Amino acid sequence: MHCPFCGAIDTKVIDSRLVTEGNHVRRRRECITCEERFTTYESAELVMPRIIKAGGIREPFNEDKLMAGLTKALEKRPVSIEKVEEAITRIKANIRSTGEREIQSRDVGEQVMKELRDLDEVAFVRFASVYRSFKDLEEFRAEIDRLSKDNSK
Ligand SMILES: [Zn+2]
Repeated sequence: MHCPFCGAIDTKVIDSRLVTEGNHVRRRRECITCEERFTTYESAELVMPRIIKAGGIREPFNEDKLMAGLTKALEKRPVSIEKVEEAITRIKANIRSTGEREIQSRDVGEQVMKELRDLDEVAFVRFASVYRSFKDLEEFRAEIDRLSKDNSK
């Protein structure tokens, strides 16, 4: 990121903030050379891989859908919107870090499950039962058992 004031190549990020409207990351930067400060906005969507749905249909990554899925599972549960947004940020970072241009929608689902398991068990079970459609009841039960074991620690 070149400094818009002096054209220097090295600028440092002094603050990063998620701007919720429009899903942008706002960064305050400072030029190492002239010490001027400026703001950049980065759009994460530009680098998100496309999602491969069942049947091979590709569609763009949709954060609103992700948010909708999470909030539906978390309906009437004691989890703050901040926690949900943090979870979404982590999911997106994980997806992006694969470096893939396309990823399976079920991989996104797995990420959501991991986050929900940490946020709220009821929401996790809701989501898992709808989304994952466990191969069989045994698998589902094993997951629940694992949860209750984690809790009794
Ligand atoms: Zn500068």
